[in-house]
Amino acid sequence: MIFGAIEAGGTKFVCGIGSEHGEIFKKVTIPTTTPDETMGKVINYFKGKHIDAMGIGSFGPIDLHKNSSTYGYITSTPKPHWGHFNLVGEIQKEFPVPIGFDTDVNAAALGEIEWGAAKSVDSCMYMTVGTGIGVGAVVNGELLHGLTHPEMGHIFIRRHEGDLFEGNCPYHKDCLEGMAAGPAIEKRWGKKGIELAEEAKVWELEAYYLAQAIANYILILSPKKVILGGGVMKQQHLIPMIRDRVIELLNGYLHHESITSDQIEGYIVSPGLGENAGLCGALALAKKEYLGK
Ligand code: ADP
Ligand code: ZN
Repeated sequence: MIFGAIEAGGTKFVCGIGSEHGEIFKKVTIPTTTPDETMGKVINYFKGKHIDAMGIGSFGPIDLHKNSSTYGYITSTPKPHWGHFNLVGEIQKEFPVPIGFDTDVNAAALGEIEWGAAKSVDSCMYMTVGTGIGVGAVVNGELLHGLTHPEMGHIFIRRHEGDLFEGNCPYHKDCLEGMAAGPAIEKRWGKKGIELAEEAKVWELEAYYLAQAIANYILILSPKKVILGGGVMKQQHLIPMIRDRVIELLNGYLHHESITSDQIEGYIVSPGLGENAGLCGALALAKKEYLGK
């Protein structure tokens, strides 16, 4: 089987060709400019590659309801030119194959369940901390959907008492994304995260916010694996700080050996698929659609 995979992001589209076993044979990165320009390049890339199905993990918000007249659209994004854009329709016109479509982070969660860090379990959550914060989840083997799709990056968290930053989410100001995504770090401290690597207080505060969110997700979803990816998580020292804080916050309430200082290293983890988590996730969406599951 040959599957096409698209990780559609606000700054770049990563397109690849792979198999039903999660192997990526080749991939290409296309900048996200205007839909005309970007989609033209995406479509050209897949032409003549004889794909059997396609998977698209996309930035959002997106319409995932198959009986909706705007199914497959990117809906209300503030990203210029891309609001109300029929992403699945544009691909479908050129490639009459089954197309799996979901959020970028739901896709990544599915990829991690199929081939990555959550291979041994039937439920997990995948959180990306990058330009924004997004979270996807697989629960009992199924992707988590609802009224629309979960938007767990925009939850409300307790502000640190010493933190005077007002928050930069255009909708909520000091929601999780507004306080802890890459641009919030940059705005609060006046430098990019990568330049602040040595500043302990930056990462203590970051862990303070991310751990609150993760503790909330654990309490609500009870995931069997928590996977943390995205640019900000490239700070290697952050994940151990988050693990310690999550244990502290839950304070022994959840009786499971995964949430103990001995075992949490295997519970809150980096993506097993590394940099390919998103693209493999799109591949997993293609496979799922092809198999009609
Ligand atoms: P996107 O979310 O656009 O797909 P990324 O996941 O790479 O892209 O996230 C980009 C954000 O992550 C930017 O705000 C950037 O400053 C931040 N970032 C990237 N690399 C690092 C790093 N090594 N340390 C801290 N922050 C980083
Ligand atoms: Zn918000």
